[in-house]
Amino acid sequence: MTHTSDLIAGVARERITEFTSQETARFAHARPISRAAQAEMAQTWFDRVPLHWMKDWPLPFLPHVAYAQKAQLFDVDGFGIDDFCLGDTGSMFGHSPKAVAKAIMAQAKNGLTYMLPNQAAKEAGFWLTERFGDFRWQLTLSATDANRFAMRVARGVTGRSKVLVFTGCYHGTVDDAMVRQVGTKTRARLGLVGQVADLSKAAICVEFNDLAAVEVALATGEVAAILTEPALTNCAMVLPAPGFLEGLRVLATKYGALLILDETHTISTGLGGYKGRYGLEPDMFVVGKCVAGGVATGVWGLSPELAVRLQAYNNQKPAGHSGMGTTLSANPLQFAALTANLSQVMTAKSYTKMEAGAARLEQGLARVVSYHKLPWHVVRLGARVEFICAPGPLHNGTQAIEAHHPNLEAALHIGLLNRGSLIAPFHNMMLVSPVTSIKQIDRLIAAFDDVVSTLMK
Ligand code: PMP
Repeated sequence: MTHTSDLIAGVARERITEFTSQETARFAHARPISRAAQAEMAQTWFDRVPLHWMKDWPLPFLPHVAYAQKAQLFDVDGFGIDDFCLGDTGSMFGHSPKAVAKAIMAQAKNGLTYMLPNQAAKEAGFWLTERFGDFRWQLTLSATDANRFAMRVARGVTGRSKVLVFTGCYHGTVDDAMVRQVGTKTRARLGLVGQVADLSKAAICVEFNDLAAVEVALATGEVAAILTEPALTNCAMVLPAPGFLEGLRVLATKYGALLILDETHTISTGLGGYKGRYGLEPDMFVVGKCVAGGVATGVWGLSPELAVRLQAYNNQKPAGHSGMGTTLSANPLQFAALTANLSQVMTAKSYTKMEAGAARLEQGLARVVSYHKLPWHVVRLGARVEFICAPGPLHNGTQAIEAHHPNLEAALHIGLLNRGSLIAPFHNMMLVSPVTSIKQIDRLIAAFDDVVSTLMK
């Protein structure tokens, strides 16, 4: 009989180790070309990869991509891989959507960057408002920068120093949000490289879904803005309790803080993101990743009232650098890709298809979990689906962090990849694009069933 302490989330620890080593050997054996390519890269790239995040895949080396089409990757070793990671949302509408690729090719002949607008800039602005609401927009190259600048504005116009964020949050590589709660204190997260600033002076961190804690933090009068995703998606997914987001709006207004919604991931929810679907009213709206169909683009928008306040603030501040902006931002490739993506790809029709596919995936995975009587659950936000190796639903970031079982998840990830499906490396996240086929979804469900059944043998 297996002792419960030998179990990780209901699966025998020994079985996980054994399965992972078999699957790792299988992966390595099948991909000699990728293995050799990555070994060679040790001569040029630090730690063999061009971005250290790529080391987060629980793999001995990475499959090298030959090309990507629709929701499939094809690697140099000849494997077709059903892609449910989709660049961790950057390709949520599929790889190289036709309209976007065409717009990029047309612009590529007419200049790539010139620090001036063109006609497509006008159109892109129109489509941003059409899709996300009445904001005054600015472009960046990443959602990280969009959040960074949104926070700067919040501090500027309110004259306050702190941003309120939630345990388990992630808003890109902005220092201010790299915090965690330790008891009642806010501290820098573990693992930050070269951290010097005292982040407890820049941020207050409380639990998601805890309006009472939010109110205590706001009552200090130090909070310039609440920065949050509508649902926590950067730890195991936590959905907002009924009334929580509306409560944030009310409390922010009551205490003179701004509300910044970061919809970089929750754009999966539906047309216009979570805000579009459920009608929230933030002071600032941030989105990135897939907004321009995969072309590096972040967007931040100010409500018309806040735009007036920022203008007044700018009029009285000394001349000089604002601390915002980067040279390549707002380039014509972005205008072209944004316009094409927002008008032709990110449509109500696409979301209907994504949602139907994601619901099918959610149900299929939940059936497997239930059949094996595992203490796991499956959660979905529009096109975004996650299986979580802990009982649910989760209510806050601390629960979400505790729900994470790296060894078990690594076994599941490599097992799925060996059976032809790639899911995001960070947690057990899957996205369904408008070009993901039913066949691909059913293959993933079957692969999940096979992996879980093998682990439970
Ligand atoms: N906001 C959220 C909610 C995110 O999930 C991420 C990235 N995972 C970012 C911002 C930062 O995006 P980027 O890495 O493209 O700057």
